[in-house]
Amino acid sequence: MILPTYRPTYAQIDLKAITHNIVSLRKVLPDETNIIAVVKADAYGHGVEAVSKAALAAGATMLAVATPDEAIELRNLGFQADILVLGASPVSFANIAAQQNIILTVFQAEWINEVQELVKPLRIHLKIDTGMGRLGIRSELELTEILQVLKRRPTIQVEGVYTHFATADEEDTQKFDQQLETFQYMLRLFPTPVPFIHASNSAASITKKNAIFQGVRYGIAMYGLPASNYVKETMPFEMKPALSLHTQLVHVKKVSEGSTISYGATYTAPKDEWIGTIPIGYADGVLRGLSGQEVLIQGKRMPIIGRICMDQCMILLDKSYPINEPVTLIGQQGNETIEIDEWAKKLNTISYEIPCLLTKRVPRVLK
Ligand code: PLP
Repeated sequence: MILPTYRPTYAQIDLKAITHNIVSLRKVLPDETNIIAVVKADAYGHGVEAVSKAALAAGATMLAVATPDEAIELRNLGFQADILVLGASPVSFANIAAQQNIILTVFQAEWINEVQELVKPLRIHLKIDTGMGRLGIRSELELTEILQVLKRRPTIQVEGVYTHFATADEEDTQKFDQQLETFQYMLRLFPTPVPFIHASNSAASITKKNAIFQGVRYGIAMYGLPASNYVKETMPFEMKPALSLHTQLVHVKKVSEGSTISYGATYTAPKDEWIGTIPIGYADGVLRGLSGQEVLIQGKRMPIIGRICMDQCMILLDKSYPINEPVTLIGQQGNETIEIDEWAKKLNTISYEIPCLLTKRVPRVLK
């Protein structure tokens, strides 16, 4: 493989995995359900251009991003598909969104009132906060006011209504059921049927069948990562992780008993040992909390020892290996696999965070 960098550190993105994860969801959804591919945050760190192309080719009908800038980036890349901005957009973006055919999420009457004369119709989805407590219309009163204000603004077109679940990845459905009930109540307040209703994220679209509506917003599972253990256990299809992380040994040495390794001299060799150095560190997203995490060399697990440096870290080897020996930090080598979840557990976080942590310095190489 030819890398775009001189350093042999890269994340490999398997677009066939993205396709597989979308096609597999498609099979368990009703035929008419739209799949909105959630490609915010540079497609959860996987690379927005390649993932968006693969997602649309696999059957997604809309792309969703978090910010106005992410939507503009997609348009500048030439994407013509519908793009929904999930986060709040400033009023000053309304005219640009209208010109660029970008759909905005709206949830405040004042926002609509402040929008200047529009050069083209603005497409919007109203967001209902049914219990996530983040963004959205929370009461019947607020919704009625917004619907009143919208009557006076014919160039602002409500094409969709949606909500977001806070606990869709959990087995206990109490909170989820309450949110769904509130959503259904709010939907009944619309004077005419809403063309496009969506509510489910990956977890809900896979594990809860009563909230599919006309579309689902498919994020983490599209990347082949489970939203939670519960989702992992109840998956009706196999998910394929799209991202793996690789580098190579750039230095190998034998140290004598009592030698210390890395900053703070926190690791002391208990005997003579082979130590390898790999060119990846916390400035790449391999956080210091990953000291002790294993990597794969020739299909065998070996630990990162001592403190992780900004650009490098050291591995305790079981024997001598040649320079340039491949090292896999996430992914498969031989019969061994290191899943993103393993890193997430080690860092006391969720799988979502891990690919987002990998910085720009790590090239995303397509498989
Ligand atoms: N919808 C909204 C509003 C979101 O914020 C997100 C992601 O956080 C998603 C859908 C996709 O969620 P998931 O990655 O769990 O599928």
